Amino acid sequence: MENRTTKDKPLFTPGPLTTSMTVKEAMLRDLGSRDSEFIGALREVREKLLEVGGVSQEAGYESILMQGSGTFSVESVICSAMPPEGKLLAIVNGAYGDRIVKIAQAHGIETLVQKVGENKLPSVAAVEEALAADGEIKMVVAVHCETTSGIINPIEEIGQVVARHGRRYFVDSMSAFGAVPLDLAGANIDFLVSSANKCIEGVPGFGFCICRRDALLETRGWSRTLSLDLLAQWEGLEKSGQFRFTPPTHAILAFRQALQELEDEGGVEGRRDRYRENYRTLVSGMRGLGFEEYVDPDLQGYIITSFHYPQDANFEFQRFYDLLNEAGFVIYPGKVSDADCFRIGNIGRIDRNDVEQLLEAIKTALASMGVAQTGTVGAGK
Ligand SMILES: *Cc1c(COP(=O)(O)O)cnc(C)c1O
Repeated sequence: MENRTTKDKPLFTPGPLTTSMTVKEAMLRDLGSRDSEFIGALREVREKLLEVGGVSQEAGYESILMQGSGTFSVESVICSAMPPEGKLLAIVNGAYGDRIVKIAQAHGIETLVQKVGENKLPSVAAVEEALAADGEIKMVVAVHCETTSGIINPIEEIGQVVARHGRRYFVDSMSAFGAVPLDLAGANIDFLVSSANKCIEGVPGFGFCICRRDALLETRGWSRTLSLDLLAQWEGLEKSGQFRFTPPTHAILAFRQALQELEDEGGVEGRRDRYRENYRTLVSGMRGLGFEEYVDPDLQGYIITSFHYPQDANFEFQRFYDLLNEAGFVIYPGKVSDADCFRIGNIGRIDRNDVEQLLEAIKTALASMGVAQTGTVGAGK
């Protein structure tokens, strides 16, 4: 893809991701955290995030940036927005859902877990039942695209049930926000988090939360930590236009450029189209080489895809990974617990051309391992 340094291998991973040259170049500055130019950039980024989410301050929404990787933002919401008493209902079908449960447990929050297999959708009826039966559940949390497998969860349907029961709803949309259209208001989302280095294609360093102002204001006095206190972070940003503690200045300048490039690409729909084309090219090519996906295509998103190892004794993942790496491509080991899989991401500054080159490299790697192929690259395209 154009506008990218040629030195580095394209990353077909869930993040960090390949970024554009112009995003990287935006970091060649040293702005002070109290510099008016930086404060202006921060304001612009916060406004644009609301636009990407299809919401606004007038409609009652706020955006808050938080230092750290995406997990820090998830933890910020859990430790700040869960009341001192009350239970969390966590809907889990992968490693990122499991991580949310661990976070809640670390803060001593009583957590009910509805867990299904990593290639299964959670049951909306089970959520409804749990909420009807237990008034102490104060918040429901779900993962939008479960990056473990690439499955897309029914965020809107769950949100409607949560709204009917008047509970708070938190969505980890880390790997989907910016590329998978989502109606925050229609889905009744109170808190949504994502990070700089997923579909918006910035560099790592911070995450962000888009939330309903009334849900945020309700949390006063609840935070169990100082640095991850979501309400205090928002108040700092509102009062002085600044972070409370050292901001990731360079990453924010890169992110401002990344948001501009998202807009130039046609916003969420434009980005969706490129990622979906990457996905379609990948899957038809991989099927042609005899690979099978772990998730049913009807449930599978276009963000990242898990593939089963080929059923051939000559296949050895580490060797496969190394061969691809030597050829100039970075893929990702699997994370699902009940099958041998590896993952290929479709997100970041990569396009169909890159995916086609990756497919050629996979074909060559299989041949040099002596793994039988049942088809050819491009079959069924
Ligand atoms: C990437 C990701 C996270 C956060 O991971 P970090 O390594 O902390 O950035 C959380 N949830 C999902 C679904 C993700 O894809």
